Amino acid sequence: LGVSVRNAVQRIGNGSVVTQKDIDKALREIRIALLEADVALPVIKTFLQKVQDQALGRNLVKSLYPDQLISKIVYDEMLALVNNDPVHWARRSSILVMGLQGSGKTTLCGKLAFMFKAQNISTLLVSLDPYRPAAQSQLAVIGNSIGVDVLPVVEEDVYTTAKRALSKTPFYDHIIFDTAGRLHVDKELMEELVQLQSIIRAKENLLVCDSLIGQSITEVSKSFSKLTLNGIALSKLDANHKAGVILSLKSLLDLPIKFLGTGEKPQDFMQWDAKRIVNRILDQGDIAELVHKTTQLLSHETHAQQLSRIQKGIFTLDDLIVQMDAMQKMGGLSSILKLIPGMGAILESLQNKDTSFKKEKAILSSMTVKERKDPKILDASRKKRIARGSGTTVQDVNQLLTRFGEMKKMFGKFSK
Ligand code: GDP
Ligand code: MG
Repeated sequence: LGVSVRNAVQRIGNGSVVTQKDIDKALREIRIALLEADVALPVIKTFLQKVQDQALGRNLVKSLYPDQLISKIVYDEMLALVNNDPVHWARRSSILVMGLQGSGKTTLCGKLAFMFKAQNISTLLVSLDPYRPAAQSQLAVIGNSIGVDVLPVVEEDVYTTAKRALSKTPFYDHIIFDTAGRLHVDKELMEELVQLQSIIRAKENLLVCDSLIGQSITEVSKSFSKLTLNGIALSKLDANHKAGVILSLKSLLDLPIKFLGTGEKPQDFMQWDAKRIVNRILDQGDIAELVHKTTQLLSHETHAQQLSRIQKGIFTLDDLIVQMDAMQKMGGLSSILKLIPGMGAILESLQNKDTSFKKEKAILSSMTVKERKDPKILDASRKKRIARGSGTTVQDVNQLLTRFGEMKKMFGKFSK
């Protein structure tokens, strides 16, 4: 997803003038990328609408850095899509784990118990899945492996088991209830869960969601929204490179994501951290880094001063020196050139591979302050003197002045 979004964004940045058409094209590409990442359709629609509104509101077309700005908008909107407050687990309460069969409920119970145990919080594991004996023993095996108590199995209905477990409340910080699942949402299962909810009155009612669920997330979330839920646990993130479901979940269910399962073992989980997740979705924070760089660049005082001068149509040879210094400091021409509309094309056409600007700086420093302020006074004899002083030729001096003229013209257009 990150690569596709970045490509779409980069194509915006390549032209010197950004049109609404370019933006629409990039948004279409981002749409395809989101679709391929299995983000639910309604979520894509609202997401792109928001990005578009932001682009309009912040006048992307007239922006100095259209590609940077749209990256930031995409990043921020994605963060808004998944953002929730830091996860807080209610103290001394019951946790009810629900979800489709095979979504990872039993595994999640083990992970939660493991996490709490590491924090010296005691838990009791309870299986409310008497329909599959294997499910009960699965929970018992997990409990034993991590040294957490499991309620002994007795032949009885689930409601009786739930009440029996609740009678142990004084002895544990948390009671974690594992429930049965079905392959598809069905009425019988829902009714059982509703009744269990009224008996257990858990503070944490978690819906486990398999991250491989794909587009059927829309349907599943609708059915489960009939229950009282206050959090989502996403499982099998390790098996899914698409991660689109993360973007879908919060807006479809309007519930915080509280837990991320990243493997089959009790210790395979990740704490929820919105920024980290968005960085991961967008490929290890490249876009964040881009945004960071822009911020750095913009906060650079000299640069800001220069920008305002350039916007007023003022650009002198002294500004050129500052510009060259700044480029060197920011590390590498290529990363900076594309920040300046039109600059890339001009410098490319000059095929200036010397990124240290040694020759140019020598020429500029051989000029007097007066000459730099007003290059028009540079006649043949002055040019000869400068060439001699900088160890270059009159031709080099002329070339620099021509380039400077082009840049000045470009900045003049740019300010308009
Ligand atoms: P339940 O039917 O909802 O209780 O699902 P289970 O907890 O029994 O999990 C179903 C299958 O998914 C099992 O083979 C688990 O080992 C596997 N599983 C659960 N969570 C994860 C996870 O985060 N990553 C991976 N790779 N496998 C998982
Ligand atoms: Mg199970």
